[in-house]
Amino acid sequence: MGPVILLIFRQESSRRCRVLEHYDCVIIGAGPAGLAAARVLSESGFKAVVLERSEPGGGKACGGAVSAGGMSCLERLFGPLPGEFAEEAIRLEGLRIVTRREGAVDLAYSPPRLALPRHILGRWLASLCAVRVKEGAEVTDLLAERFFNRLKVVERGEELELSSTFVIAADGGASTSLRRLRPEFSRIYHQPNLQAAVDLVFDLREEARGLRGVLFLERPRAALRVYPSFDGLHLTVPSRREGDWETLLEEALPLLRRHFAMEAEEPKGRRPALTNRMGMLGHFSPGLGSVLLAGEAAGLLDAWGDGIEAALRSGEIAGRAVVDCAGERVLPYRYYAERLKELRASFESERRGQAQGDLLLQGSPLDVRKAGGRRRYRRLLRRLAGP
Ligand SMILES: Cc1cc2nc3c(=O)[nH]c(=O)nc-3n(C[C@H](O)[C@H](O)[C@H](O)COP(=O)(O)OP(=O)(O)OC[C@H]3O[C@@H](n4cnc5c(N)ncnc54)[C@H](O)[C@@H]3O)c2cc1C
Repeated sequence: MGPVILLIFRQESSRRCRVLEHYDCVIIGAGPAGLAAARVLSESGFKAVVLERSEPGGGKACGGAVSAGGMSCLERLFGPLPGEFAEEAIRLEGLRIVTRREGAVDLAYSPPRLALPRHILGRWLASLCAVRVKEGAEVTDLLAERFFNRLKVVERGEELELSSTFVIAADGGASTSLRRLRPEFSRIYHQPNLQAAVDLVFDLREEARGLRGVLFLERPRAALRVYPSFDGLHLTVPSRREGDWETLLEEALPLLRRHFAMEAEEPKGRRPALTNRMGMLGHFSPGLGSVLLAGEAAGLLDAWGDGIEAALRSGEIAGRAVVDCAGERVLPYRYYAERLKELRASFESERRGQAQGDLLLQGSPLDVRKAGGRRRYRRLLRRLAGP
């Protein structure tokens, strides 16, 4: 009988979570949004921690091109970019928009933009945010109450539980926090608008080094991003159904060869990518109570392709909302929601009428899959191409 009882006891204890510390604020995700929030909180003396399931900027499929607004936000929060990073960065001179019928139109970036490899950007921000970043710590559940939140975390196979007064959830496009916090919103607006893609990498020729691009395909209709990075030329192909990206790739290859000096037939690597398009379709979620959503988790994927700027700026205002509300014991949600609205309005007015940036990404008002969008796009191209 003895060994049986011992076995049952062992199983029970291995399932039990270890309850760890209480924090003023737990930040979920060490992307630009989470690390900007961490920086603001650390300046105000908050006891905070960043939980990151992989590593800062780790496996993220992203061109790392930082807009002028993003650069000034980085400098304001973290100081000037170290010289050695500027050497690693790719200088982007412009955006090349390609269609089979109209050919290519180049929009110059003025001033040129820097594209930083995401793992380098992530490491730099994590080292300066002055908050402990726990790598390999995945948040699997979030139970939110007024000023008391419990988080289940799996860290190196072990389940832990943390608690905090506030949470800033910056866990990216597929946000677990959004699903847990607002299940109906997530089911209706978030999950149907998650767009899976395959990010392919090819050899990069010197001629295409300073260019980012969008390829528009007609049959089937799709917009594909092209961006140079430290490891090659990337092509991000939407993948609605299993394997359909291969058909799109076949269509795209001749355009890549002609307009991005690409020679290879086969990609040398590939990884999955995901885009949360809910914000592009007008659905945002600032969070609830003492849990604030920031960056792509809130829907802030800028249709102009400046997602890093949107993430940094929303992370900063989420951090400030928590700091401003903590002393008053006021729930920061409404306060943050107002500021987020102002941020979105400022993005829209800054971009209105602007011909720069990834103006033509899917989900933007010029979505190629909409007939009106396509006509407007053609008109824009003709205007840009001149007489
Ligand atoms: C192919 C592609 C190219 C792009 N190129 C550009 C570009 O050139 N310039 C630009 O400005 N934007 C670009 N974007 C958009 C940009 O990548 C995003 O807008 C930006 O990264 C959003 O930042 P974030 O901090 O909100 O989320 P993320 O950068 O996605 O960070 C979220 C973090 O949370 C972590 N995480 C997720 N779930 C959990 C969990 N449960 N527990 C713990 N941690 C978790 C993730 O590992 C990740 O590190 C691109 C996007 C794509 C798909």
